Amino acid sequence: MLFYSTNQQSPPLPFSQALLQGQAPDRGLYMPEAIPALSAEEISSFSQLEYHQLAARVMGKFLEGELPPQILDALTKDAYDFEVPLEHVHERQYVMRLDQGPTASFKDFAARMMGRLMNHYLEEQNRNLLILTATSGDTGSAISHAFLGLERIKAVVLFPIDEVTARQRKQMTTLGQNIKVLGLDGKFDTCQALVKQAFSDPDLQGLNLSSANSINIGRLIPQTVYYFWAYSRLAGNGESITFSVPSGNFGDMMGGILAMKMGLPVQKFVIAVNENDEFPKYLETGQYEKIEPSRNCISSAMNVGHPSNLARLIDLYGGRMDEKGILHKPADMETMRREIWTASVNDAQTRETIKKAWENHRLLLEPHGAVGWAGLQQYLRKQDSNTRDMLCVSLETAHPAKFPEEINRLLGFDPELPPALQGIEEKEEHYEKIPLEYGAFKEYLVSNYQAFSH
Ligand SMILES: *Cc1c(COP(=O)(O)O)cnc(C)c1O
Repeated sequence: MLFYSTNQQSPPLPFSQALLQGQAPDRGLYMPEAIPALSAEEISSFSQLEYHQLAARVMGKFLEGELPPQILDALTKDAYDFEVPLEHVHERQYVMRLDQGPTASFKDFAARMMGRLMNHYLEEQNRNLLILTATSGDTGSAISHAFLGLERIKAVVLFPIDEVTARQRKQMTTLGQNIKVLGLDGKFDTCQALVKQAFSDPDLQGLNLSSANSINIGRLIPQTVYYFWAYSRLAGNGESITFSVPSGNFGDMMGGILAMKMGLPVQKFVIAVNENDEFPKYLETGQYEKIEPSRNCISSAMNVGHPSNLARLIDLYGGRMDEKGILHKPADMETMRREIWTASVNDAQTRETIKKAWENHRLLLEPHGAVGWAGLQQYLRKQDSNTRDMLCVSLETAHPAKFPEEINRLLGFDPELPPALQGIEEKEEHYEKIPLEYGAFKEYLVSNYQAFSH
């Protein structure tokens, strides 16, 4: 199977090349040329599988002939060594907690798999890769953990010393091994500018730099899996399911839409966004306008005024949007509206949802998951028929313990830390400080990584 660029100017590539490339040269996003189909029998057989086995079966559909099944089995087993709980709330409504990975964020699902796939192909090609990333907090720890211990990849993470919390910093600086962390007395934007300059520096071409960014096709495919997982654990014979997905850059919900197009019986996708409501407006009117600058909400990972995966969604519905957000060909809005329902949830509603969910159901949500849950409740209220028997799953994308101040203010207690975040206070930290200038950063890269990158 080949993967084409949504901008249609770059040639289609096999998976391994699209994966190591990230973004297409024409600045489009890679998509599979055909969406593999799963039969109803195959989907119902998933109820017998563990998560990592199910992951290998679903992802294997995209990787036939590209990756031997036994290798994929080994990679998924290594990547998915944590629980994926489905918490019953009431009636037939559930919350799927995607927060049990090493950084207590749903991004672990995609990043860990992408890291392992990259490492496999690098091994095959006898190459090494140096990942550079700038972080204002959570991306750095998800990337660091995803690549930790992989032999063909090293990572350098830049962070602004004054802008990350102690807990965020420790999630990166206590890892060691192939992860190096550099602190700067500057802002996030400065860190990002240094990384960008390194990528475009011809002197550093020999270092095999890569960004492992969030639009990589290697991050999208793993995000189809947990939709099949929820269905396999909860659905009765052939029934359909409704998902609610708290969304920012739309990677998570694109995984769900792909799962539906592969044959998962989905009744509706609820796309819940915060006050950045460019998508609800687009679905209503067919006109798209990004929000610049994006609006600041407490569900901060979803403060996105132009979702980077929107071009993929529009492509899947027959339209074309470029990387700037310009629509060159309209999508099939009628089908999109039949399959997707969307809601914008403001901060007051988000806080109210956290309180009500706890008071009424002892359901503990953090701000992102609360946007998803609120979106689902809005959708259910709009239905004419009785919704008691409707199977619904809302996604929780981060662990509540990552938002202790907000939870404490609303509920009066501190959420317990998940195992992944425990014990971090006592671990030894390692990071270097470098001066705030490109010359020093470049010198650091050359002197430390010239021998590694061949
Ligand atoms: C990144 C993130 C989201 C948004 O996911 P997208 O794939 O960008 O839509 C939601 N919640 C949390 C906690 C996140 O970190």
